[in-house]
Formats: sequence, C-alpha cells, structure tokens
Amino acid sequence: MVWARVRLLEVSLRAWKRKAEYRWRHYREWKQRGDRAHYWLDQNEKHHNAAGVASDRLQIERLSPLVHKWEHKWAEANAKVHLRAAEIAKLKPKPPPVPQGEGWSVPATGWNPYRRKLANWIVRELHDAVARGAQGHVNSGVRTYSEQKRLYENYLNGGNIAARPGYSNHEGYVKPRGAVDWSNPESLEAALRRKPHRELTWAEDVGLHDTVHFSRYGR
Ligand SMILES: [Zn+2]
Repeated sequence: MVWARVRLLEVSLRAWKRKAEYRWRHYREWKQRGDRAHYWLDQNEKHHNAAGVASDRLQIERLSPLVHKWEHKWAEANAKVHLRAAEIAKLKPKPPPVPQGEGWSVPATGWNPYRRKLANWIVRELHDAVARGAQGHVNSGVRTYSEQKRLYENYLNGGNIAARPGYSNHEGYVKPRGAVDWSNPESLEAALRRKPHRELTWAEDVGLHDTVHFSRYGR
C-alpha cells in the first residue's frame, strides 16, 4: 500500500521534474531577451538616441510579462518537485542503522534476504561494499557449533567445502573472527578493491578454494 503510493509519487515527481526543466528553458530564454533589451536601453540612454530608447522601452514592456510568466511557472514546478520529494522521503521506511561496536546483528537489508546473523564489523564492511556497487546477498554468516558440524558432515559427503566444527571463522563474530558467504563473490571482491582499508579478504585471494567465503584473513 505504502509502496504503491511511493511509486505513484515517484512518477509524479519525474513528471514535475521534466516540467520544471522545460519551464526553466523558457524562462531563461525570455530572461536573456529581456536582459538584452535592458542592455540596449542602457546603451541608447547613454548616447541620447530617443528613437532607440523608445523602441527598447517598448520591447522591455512586451518581454517582461513573458519573463514573469515563465519565472512563475518554473517556480511553481520547482515547489511541486520539492513537495513530492519530501512526501516520498516521509513515506519510505528509513534504512536500519549500521551496527556499531563488537557483537553480531541481523541486518534487515535487501542484501540479507535470509536474515542471517552477522558479525557487526562484517555488516559495516558489507554496507560499504554494497554502497560501492557490490551485487549479491548473504548466504551464511554466524553459525553455531552444531550448524558447522552439519555443514562439515555435508562436506565429507561431497557437499560444499566447510571447516571442521570448532575451527571455522563462521563460529565467531569478534574481530578477527567472523565470516560471511556471499552469493556474488566476484562483485563483492571488485567493490572491496575500491574501498580504502578493506577488512574483508576473499578466500580465493589467499589460495583457499572456498569461492564464496570472506573473512578478516580469508580463512
Ligand atoms: Zn564461509
């Protein structure tokens, strides 16, 4: 319901932005003509050319209502743009705050669709990477010993690579422990490379063939 209203407002915002741009172009054109007439009036008055002064005055008289008309229309569209933008900002839910300090949290973000638990320091890294264009989502974050045990047994039976229970960085969340498995590791890696002081390392970069795994030192 809220989203339908937001989408409607966004369509209206785009339309008013286009209108404002169109009206701005008209306003600017008439304003330039008016300014030119004023300039010539000024020049003519300096040189006492009565005929020139009269013709420039007439031109200014003709132009100024058009200048004011388009200035008013442009201001009106601009006001609508600001109003719509404010309405949209009010309706859209605020993004959850980035967790500070140690510990773990469950980010309610688009990139955490399965609502996995994650180390706070990894949440901060991922927020930054997504802002830098990382595509994909979290598949696995903080695990309990028994979850790790199940994944390790699955690995022994030919499943995805997993560390022995008790030895995985997925089982901790206080830096340097903590790990995340990401669905589009190439994209996350590319975004992390654009980030100064990156703290997440891709397992591939340290020669571990766990293609989806990121942690402080890649293990
Ligand atoms: Zn992993």
